[in-house]
Amino acid sequence: MNKKVYEEALERSDGGLCEICTSHIGVELHHIIYGNGKRKQCERIESVIFLCWDHHHGNEGIHGKNGHALELELKLELQLTYFDMGMNEDEVRKWMGGKLYD
Ligand SMILES: [Zn+2]
Ligand SMILES: [Zn+2]
Repeated sequence: MNKKVYEEALERSDGGLCEICTSHIGVELHHIIYGNGKRKQCERIESVIFLCWDHHHGNEGIHGKNGHALELELKLELQLTYFDMGMNEDEVRKWMGGKLYD
């Protein structure tokens, strides 16, 4: 992944703490937009988040069996961030991997 993005994310997360609960256990960087080859082309500082093991792979974690709500929440937040940054709809759609969420 882009080294600069990774380093900025480290800084934002106090050195790699979960950005939801600040736990340090099993923390990994999650790409909010992934799948269908979108992960790399949609990677930027706003689209990655450090997650602890629970929030990443636990039952309620983003890749867990009940993780759909959290996944959608992060995507909606990201979309809002892009609009707040002044992007137009086409740009937001591009950075969201080709679709808008609601
Ligand atoms: Zn967490
Ligand atoms: Zn992930």
